[in-house]
Amino acid sequence: MMYQYIDSIRSLMAKVNLVNYRLSYSELRMKSIGKKLKEILRGMGIEVVGFAPVSGWDTDPLVSSRVAPVSRPRSIMKNARSVIVIGIPISPATLGTAPSIAYSEAYKVINTMLDQSSQRVTMELMALGYDAMPIPRDGYHGLDGLRESPSAFFSHRHAAYLAGLGTFGENNMLLSAEYGPGIRYTSILTDAELPYDYPLCSEVCIHCGLCVRTCPEGALTRGSYPDNITDKSKCIERSAELNHKGVSPCGMCIAVCPIGKTYNGIYQTAEALEMIRSYQRK
Ligand code: SF4
Ligand code: SF4
Repeated sequence: MMYQYIDSIRSLMAKVNLVNYRLSYSELRMKSIGKKLKEILRGMGIEVVGFAPVSGWDTDPLVSSRVAPVSRPRSIMKNARSVIVIGIPISPATLGTAPSIAYSEAYKVINTMLDQSSQRVTMELMALGYDAMPIPRDGYHGLDGLRESPSAFFSHRHAAYLAGLGTFGENNMLLSAEYGPGIRYTSILTDAELPYDYPLCSEVCIHCGLCVRTCPEGALTRGSYPDNITDKSKCIERSAELNHKGVSPCGMCIAVCPIGKTYNGIYQTAEALEMIRSYQRK
């Protein structure tokens, strides 16, 4: 009787150990995939990377209040478990000229780099036996598309927030502690589990109100996101006007933000700034 009892205890302990072993194996695998993806991205010059669990879209109060269920990762890819977010900073000297042909061209190049990098990550995940879906940097069809539906089909800003890359500012952009709003993001959905990051505990925006005062359209209001939503129709019409002149997007509420590097007015002389900004279609 006593031996039977000891045997059953031993068998229970073996099962517990097996579970522990499996848990630690899956954790190790998660960490090693995360490390590998970061190494690949670093090889492409991308240092800003974060991993968010898809559950965050349903459980985080800020994100679940702003992102409709249809635009959440599990609706777009049913077996998704994680979202990988990558960011490329914009050169502060370039951003300081916005709106300009210099900023407009850099914006296009960075978008292309982000799309290429997310495709590269997707290929790597597929080679490891996972499903993955790169979300295009701009998931909408130009200004006409935005007029019809003023949001992209997936929000990279909210994904970056959940991946711990920053918090929202009064300009409704995601502010990273290092780059402020001067950084662009894209996302990859995958069924791989990854070592997750979580939203930052402290707010990055210092509520100086510069972005609100600078907006030429009055599209921004004071307060904290998500209570102070940008008037997207005003912002879109400004972009349309600048697009016609070949110098969209506007970017003034990004350029003026003091978080990260200080942009406006420190890189160019006033004369050079005027000269660069004069390159517009008439
Ligand atoms: S991008 Fe320009 S128009 Fe749009 S909110 Fe910012 S400053 Fe205003
Ligand atoms: S300009 Fe000031 S208020 Fe606006 S986002 Fe930056 S820190 Fe916040």
